[in-house]
Amino acid sequence: MQQYKQYKQYKQAYIRGKWQDVDPVSGISLPDSYSGEPLAEVALAGTKEACDAVLAARDAFPAWSGMPAAERAQLLRKVGDALAKDIDGLAEAITREVGMPLKLSKRIQVQAPVAAWSAYADMAERFDFEKRIGHSIVTHEPVGVVACITPWNYPLHQITAKVAPALAAGCTVVLKPSELAPAAAYALAQAVQRAGIPPGVFNMVMGEGRITGEVIVNHPEVDMVSFTGSTAAGRRVASLAGNGIKRLALELGGKSASIVLPDADLKLAMRHALSACFLNSGQTCTAISRLLVPAAVYPECVALLKHGIGAFAMGDPFDPATRIGPLVSMEQRQRVKDHIAAALEEGAEIIAGDEAVPTHGWFVAPTILGNVQAHSRIAQEEVFGPVLCVLAYETEDEAVRIANGTPYGLAAAVWSTDQAHALAVARRLRAGQVDINGAPFNPEAPFGGFGMSGIGRENGIFGFEEFLEPRAIQLAA
Ligand code: NAD
Repeated sequence: MQQYKQYKQYKQAYIRGKWQDVDPVSGISLPDSYSGEPLAEVALAGTKEACDAVLAARDAFPAWSGMPAAERAQLLRKVGDALAKDIDGLAEAITREVGMPLKLSKRIQVQAPVAAWSAYADMAERFDFEKRIGHSIVTHEPVGVVACITPWNYPLHQITAKVAPALAAGCTVVLKPSELAPAAAYALAQAVQRAGIPPGVFNMVMGEGRITGEVIVNHPEVDMVSFTGSTAAGRRVASLAGNGIKRLALELGGKSASIVLPDADLKLAMRHALSACFLNSGQTCTAISRLLVPAAVYPECVALLKHGIGAFAMGDPFDPATRIGPLVSMEQRQRVKDHIAAALEEGAEIIAGDEAVPTHGWFVAPTILGNVQAHSRIAQEEVFGPVLCVLAYETEDEAVRIANGTPYGLAAAVWSTDQAHALAVARRLRAGQVDINGAPFNPEAPFGGFGMSGIGRENGIFGFEEFLEPRAIQLAA
């Protein structure tokens, strides 16, 4: 097992191609999420660095947007190559910050986003930036200076999903990452520097959302805000960006449902339901946290879930046997515990989850709640922890109504041995991505939400086009 001795200091901002010491308005100390030992000191910048970064991005915009897309693409590939040099180190750092078991961190938190850099480079090379429509020439122009604001739960993935397509499209960027998971943002800024991306094209300022984040969002030289985080913060960011009539993309929370149809392979569906909810200890925006099962097979499903949960060993995220690591912070653990307590008061019952947790680290045992009512708080609000709600339904229409019956609409799942039937149900779900029978994530498919889960889409060509503004030029006959 690992020694926890990777103490780091994050006290600089990356602006105009240079590392600058931050004049901090405050700072935080991060503990290792499992051992509790000091992990990092993070200096939080204020208005000065935030404004410098925006102006740097503005100054760099004409040359970067004017560079041929193929040349930008070459530089983006170099960023991916530079990041790929230390996949293990970055996975370890993210595991320490966030608590995700290392073997998953390596693949999901690091290898997948590193690969995305070359995918966006390919896209920039292939994209048809100019089309003819009748007597118009339609050109796709980079939006301008983009503020990218990201959360902590999949830090490199969320940063990459914004910064890589924005740069590929010809935009320049100011990144304000989450102060709770700084390693990925610093690694990316170093990779950008090593790749030779021109000064000012990518800038990174670490700071608090309400201070640094808002200065950047409000800045008149920012043309677009691309935000991933909670719906509450997204609402505030949207109102600020709205004042400036800025282009806006929001990736927010979710309360995603899986509908298990009566003819589903129950064993497979229940096994998958556990991993789809408990990945990263439930700290996943697309966690499928509501499991809708036919009332007639509810007891069978509960028995299968009880059996299956035994595979979710809690413990040291560096131990290959661990499937559930700690939560990111003490506050997050308390929030999850409060949600569980409120659910029990509202009449839910514990199917599993009341066992002892490791004595250090911010653990919540993977929890399954039964007898959950569709309109109760636990079935309506995002928990962001390892809590699976099981709801019984009588008819397919009722299942669809329950699945669509929250303010969110991020992800969903359908299970049936009849794929055509599952597809018909999937088409009725108001969610941005619907998986049938456990189908895997597709990085080229659009990712985003209906309703309170957000505005716009990330990933693949859909994410790329978010950073482009069409312009029509009419030619006289
Ligand atoms: P958060 O909303 O607290 O913070 C996200 C980011 O926004 C951080 O960088 C934070 O500093 C910044 N921020 C906060 N308030 C701000 C403000 N007023 N102005 C500007 N910036 C501000 O979210 P979190 O706790 O870091 O992440 C968890 C949340 O993110 C969950 O709700 C989760 O569902 C959501 N999330 C959504 C997706 C998605 O793609 N839909 C992906 C991951 C996480």
